[in-house]
Amino acid sequence: MKLTGKRALVTGSTSGIGLGIAEVLASAGCDIALNGFGELDAIMALTRQLESQYAVQVRHFRADVSKTEECRTMVARAISELGGIDILVNNAGIQHIAPVEAFPVYRWDAIISTNLSSAFYLTAALLPEMRDRGWGRIINISSVHGLVGSKFKSAYVAAKHGLLGLTKVVALEAAGSGVTCNAVCPGWVLTPMVEAQIQKLMSEDKLERGEAERKLLNEKQPSGEFATPQQIGALVAFLCSEHAANITGASVPVDGAWSAQ
Ligand code: NAD
Repeated sequence: MKLTGKRALVTGSTSGIGLGIAEVLASAGCDIALNGFGELDAIMALTRQLESQYAVQVRHFRADVSKTEECRTMVARAISELGGIDILVNNAGIQHIAPVEAFPVYRWDAIISTNLSSAFYLTAALLPEMRDRGWGRIINISSVHGLVGSKFKSAYVAAKHGLLGLTKVVALEAAGSGVTCNAVCPGWVLTPMVEAQIQKLMSEDKLERGEAERKLLNEKQPSGEFATPQQIGALVAFLCSEHAANITGASVPVDGAWSAQ
């Protein structure tokens, strides 16, 4: 997939799925605006490694995407440093697991603002310039939890369903302008977010690591395999390509048949 000269902002790309997406887009020739938290030296090393490996420009912005002013500042800086943004991947996300009656309000608020409102802030900030240019791609990393529910994940499931609604509305408003908006719905992908859930299973159910992984997969994902950040990245790159110019408003599962049940 060649995307030479395009400029992509990928939120939450210092780890996990976002990093996988940033790597695939860089390998396709995109300049990259990385975003997310983490140890600064490690992020700087990652930035240099992507630049030298793929001969593209890479910048990092630490903005907290749950805050509208920080999104606005990041967009202005990314446009000024890379010359524009053609591709927006709304990927940053967090999780909290608790029964609805015990779900802390501050965790609900953080999940809704990080996993859902951030996509609204950034889409609103970038859509006008994409439309003016006559080309743009907005890809929202939702989840299989945008399509079906699971117990104890009320805020996450609500935010991910909401993200699919936002995807459809933006696709309709942008239709015919050269800008598409789609969602990707991963099942289990082995990242730090899921690692926390594996560790919890190991300690609560006294399981070996392999047993905990199998339990997680067997409960939900019929393929019995984790999807990978690279597979999600490859789908994002395809959605950015000209082959996908007429795919818009869609939600594509990468979930080993989880949502087929
Ligand atoms: P992760 O924890 O490995 O990475 C999350 C990234 O988001 C990190 O770079 C982190 O620094 C960043 N981040 C968190 N809060 C932020 C904020 N307020 N502002 C800016 N950056 C922030 O998680 P992951 O598993 O790679 O998840 C990435 C996305 O994929 C999330 O939206 C998640 O809901 C979704 N997803 C993950 C899975 C899975 O199985 N791992 C499945 C479906 C969907």
